[in-house]
Amino acid sequence: MDNNTATAESIPISKNASNDADPKMHQLPPLPYAYADLEPHIDTRTLMLHHNYHHASYVDKLNTALEPYPELQRCSAQWLLLNIDSVPEPIRSTVQNNAGGHLNHSLYWRSMAPNAGGATFGALGAAIIMQFSSFEEFKTQFEEAGSKVFGSGWVWLVCSLQDGSNEQKLAIVTTPGHENPLQKGQYPLLVNDVWEHAYYLKYENRRPDYLKSWWSVANWKEAEQRFQNPRETTDFELPEDSLCSNPT
Ligand code: MN
Repeated sequence: MDNNTATAESIPISKNASNDADPKMHQLPPLPYAYADLEPHIDTRTLMLHHNYHHASYVDKLNTALEPYPELQRCSAQWLLLNIDSVPEPIRSTVQNNAGGHLNHSLYWRSMAPNAGGATFGALGAAIIMQFSSFEEFKTQFEEAGSKVFGSGWVWLVCSLQDGSNEQKLAIVTTPGHENPLQKGQYPLLVNDVWEHAYYLKYENRRPDYLKSWWSVANWKEAEQRFQNPRETTDFELPEDSLCSNPT
């Protein structure tokens, strides 16, 4: 990492990173690892810019949009997305884009971990082999789906719950912009960001190379936990005194 000149000191901390921020405001969650921890697959500078500027900007814009609507300020990003039709029209698209950006990035950071990757051998691993015939075939289909996203978007491993049973069906889906599969009733298990800002400094135009390399940091432990209990592990941002009830 000698050739990487970026340091934690070289980028100022977002104003939302402070713990003494207004509790009604959405806040940039700290990364669950250090900026250099996903090297060489995700480079330090990309991760710093992505978290501290891109994600922070979605949080800032969401807070600004909600300022004139105190009744919405205590709603989590997930609640806002799931109730987007009841968000006032003047801020609806801004909330979709920035609550979506906030939630999706929060899920993306947790979808990666240092010393991760490999395969998964728990219940999710078995379900993947059942659904996609092999783990390698699953990875190939996920990479293809991510490569084909036109412009900016996300590629997800999701599960759907069958009504009246605990049976879970897996699928690979993509979403444009910052839409989230929860908005179509699908629970995110693992997600990769295929916006150019996620990979361009290191991989330039080679998104397929980024998608292939990303498996080395894929956090299967987190995905297994989500698979075990998809309803309870999704909304981690809901404020304690939220006035909004989760409709799911
Ligand atoms: Mn991103």
